[in-house]
Amino acid sequence: MKEIIVIIGGGIAGMETAAQLLKLGYTPIIIEKSDRLGGHVARWNRLFPDLTSANELVGRLTEACKDANIFLNTEVSRINRLKDNYNIILSNGVTISTKYILMATGFGLFDASRKEEYGYGIYNHVVTNSDLEMWFNGNGDERIDSSAMNAVGFVHCVGSRDEKAGNGQCSKVCCITAIKQAIELKEMYPNAQIYCFYMDLRLFGKKFEDFYTKAQRDHGIHFIRGRVSEVSENIDGKVIVKAEDTLAGKPIKVTLDLLVLMAGMLCNPDSAKMASMISLPADSDNFLKSKDNIKHITSSPKKGIYYAGACTGPKTVPETLAEARSVALEMHLQIKGI
Ligand SMILES: Cc1cc2nc3c(=O)[nH]c(=O)nc-3n(C[C@H](O)[C@H](O)[C@H](O)COP(=O)(O)OP(=O)(O)OC[C@H]3O[C@@H](n4cnc5c(N)ncnc54)[C@H](O)[C@@H]3O)c2cc1C
Ligand code: SF4
Repeated sequence: MKEIIVIIGGGIAGMETAAQLLKLGYTPIIIEKSDRLGGHVARWNRLFPDLTSANELVGRLTEACKDANIFLNTEVSRINRLKDNYNIILSNGVTISTKYILMATGFGLFDASRKEEYGYGIYNHVVTNSDLEMWFNGNGDERIDSSAMNAVGFVHCVGSRDEKAGNGQCSKVCCITAIKQAIELKEMYPNAQIYCFYMDLRLFGKKFEDFYTKAQRDHGIHFIRGRVSEVSENIDGKVIVKAEDTLAGKPIKVTLDLLVLMAGMLCNPDSAKMASMISLPADSDNFLKSKDNIKHITSSPKKGIYYAGACTGPKTVPETLAEARSVALEMHLQIKGI
C-alpha cells in the first residue's frame, strides 16, 4: 500500500510537490483553506524575471496535480501525534492518519496600515504591491484611477528591515517587484513620472539587474535613495510625498496620483497556529524553522514533517518550485528507506 502524504496548503509549493509525488506513484492529499488552488500566485498577473503569465503557471500546475485528492475550503482543525503517526482532523470532520505531512502554508503580507505614516487605509490613492498586482490582473480598485496616472511613487521596505515593525529581515522579492511594476506602469502610461524611494536595492536574482538597467535607461524611472519622511494628501486628493534624497543631498517633494507601498512577506499566522499544534519551532524571523539552513531546508526538526515554499521565508516562484521538487524526492527516499 502506498503511503498517505498530506500537503497542507494548495499554493504553487503544494501543487508542484503534489505533481511530483503523483509521478512517483503516490496519491497525495491537498488541504487548501481557500476556494481555489494557486495561493498568492493565482492573484498575480505577470511574474518576474520573464514576465511569465501567472495564470498560465497556475493552470499548468492545476492540470499536473489534478489526480491528487484535493479538499478546497478546508482547514486543519487539529493535529495529534500518536507515536510515528499524525492524526489530522479537518474542518469538514474528516480525520486522516499519516506519517508524512508537508507544510506548504506560504506567507502573509505585512499589514501596511500598521505604518500609519504612509497613509494606507487613510488616503484615497495609497495601495500595496499586492493591490497593484491584482489590479494588473484585472481586479477593479477604486483607489487606482487609470484616467489620472501622471506621477506614481513606490516606497520600498514597508514592514521589512524595520525592527520597529517587528521584522528586521529583507523580504527579497519587493525591490524587483517594484521595478517590474514600475516598468509595467510606464509601458501603459509612457508620459508618467515614476519614483522609487529606496534605502538599498537588493537585486540578487537572475536577470534582476537587467530590469534595473532597463527601468533607468529605457524608461527614465527615477530611483531616489532616501527614506520617505512624510506622506499627506492635498485638497485634490493627490498624495504628497516628502523625502530626503541622500545621494543628491537635498530634500525632495513630489505630488503623486498613486503611492504604492512594497509590503513585506511575513510568516503566515496559520503556519504558526499549526506549528503550535505539533510543537514545530519558529526561526528568529518567525517563519517555520528548517532542520538546518544548508542541507535540510525542506525538513523540519520533527520526523515526518517537511516544508516547501514561502512558509520558511521569502521565496521567489522559481525557488519555491525548486524546493517543491526537492521535497517530493526527499519524502520518496525517506519512505523507501534509501
Ligand atoms: C506582491 C508580490 C508579487 C510577487 N511577484 C512575484 C513574481 O513576479 N515572481 C516571483 O518569482 N515571485 C513573486 N512573488 C513571490 C511569490 O508570490 C511566492 O514565491 C509564492 O507565492 C510562494 O508560494 P507558496 O505556495 O509557498 O505560498 P502561497 O502562495 O502563500 O500559498 C500558500 C497556500 O496555502 C494555503 N494555506 C495557508 N494556510 C493554510 C491552512 N492552515 N490550511 C490550508 N491551506 C492553507 C493558502 O490559502 C495558499 O493557497 C511575489 C510576492 C509578492 C508579495
Ligand atoms: S527586497 Fe528591497 S524593498 Fe524588499 S525588503 Fe529587501 S531591500 Fe527592502
